[in-house]
Amino acid sequence: MRPAFVSESLPPMDVAGRLGRLRDHLDAAGCDALVVTKLENVRYLTGFTGSAGMLLVAPDRALLLTDGRYRDQAAAELAAAGVAAELEIAGVAGQLEALGRAAAGAGRVGLEARSVTWALERRLEEQFEGSTLVPTLGVVEALRQVKDEGEVARIEAACDVADVAIAQVKPMLASGCTEAEFATELEAEMRRRGSSGAAFETIVASGPNSAMPHARPSSRAIGPGELVVLDFGATVEGYRSDMTRTVCLGEPPPDLVALVDAVFAAQRAGLRAVAEGVAASEVDRACREALADAGLADAFSHSTGHGVGLEIHEAPAVSKDSTDILRAGAVVTVEPGAYLAGRGGVRIEDTVLVGRSGARALTKSTKDYTL
Ligand code: ZN
Ligand code: ZN
Repeated sequence: MRPAFVSESLPPMDVAGRLGRLRDHLDAAGCDALVVTKLENVRYLTGFTGSAGMLLVAPDRALLLTDGRYRDQAAAELAAAGVAAELEIAGVAGQLEALGRAAAGAGRVGLEARSVTWALERRLEEQFEGSTLVPTLGVVEALRQVKDEGEVARIEAACDVADVAIAQVKPMLASGCTEAEFATELEAEMRRRGSSGAAFETIVASGPNSAMPHARPSSRAIGPGELVVLDFGATVEGYRSDMTRTVCLGEPPPDLVALVDAVFAAQRAGLRAVAEGVAASEVDRACREALADAGLADAFSHSTGHGVGLEIHEAPAVSKDSTDILRAGAVVTVEPGAYLAGRGGVRIEDTVLVGRSGARALTKSTKDYTL
């Protein structure tokens, strides 16, 4: 089957402009140069998609370091993205030496504190004599919050793949299949539709399992009258989607219908709260208040959402304690849930684009829970 989306039709991303934007933020981050070790950040800044590599971003140069497996790929991806970065191919020891040479003279060299291991930090200390290593937090991640048109198009394509796949596979739930069988078929259908792989471990949780927000698909057969939580996503050119639907074969018992209605109302309240300039914690509060009104405050045991992009969970956090402000161009999820141990659970999740006056849904699947 031909994939529903061909990458040639997606608008280009502005990869080449990102190094300049990062340089504008280095001083505020307390450094003169930054060693980028988190692979999603390396990819974001250079277009390089290999599984190993580092990037030095200095005021006047950028140096991508990777090993021989990626010699041709790295050169091709830098060229395709139009990124002005030199390329160094070497083993790890050689990469570290090259980093030290390239950063000689930089006073403060920033490291990504959340991704550098203690072992790597000690090796970098040896290479950066004469410089001061300083920890940084979320410098590139802050840039990544606001997606360009090409990024939004890729996330929306990943959302579309998930939408089409679930519509295709959902009738299988009536066949008495197991959670694991359904998850396998859903992931296969997303691949057939153009996903390069599941965006994260697919959740198919039926009956009492649905009361566990992150249950793994099991060998349990899905039966009539049970709630089934389906949480899954696709990946298109590295960009992910994330959606949850709760469905039921036949009619659930009345107490679970009430649970479904309450979570749907909470999700609508959360979606209404999304807009540029709004505190992300306000979106969480809108969902939490709606569930509290239904007497389900204690049944909502996780945060409301998260940013989505090259990572399935990225900034901004949409939670009670978040200090993030939603910016136009950010892509976030709104996914309240309510869970009654031993009975069942409900979660509804959309991936949405933050706009000036509200949210634009990138997930478009029906929310009707009946099959
Ligand atoms: Zn999800
Ligand atoms: Zn999510």
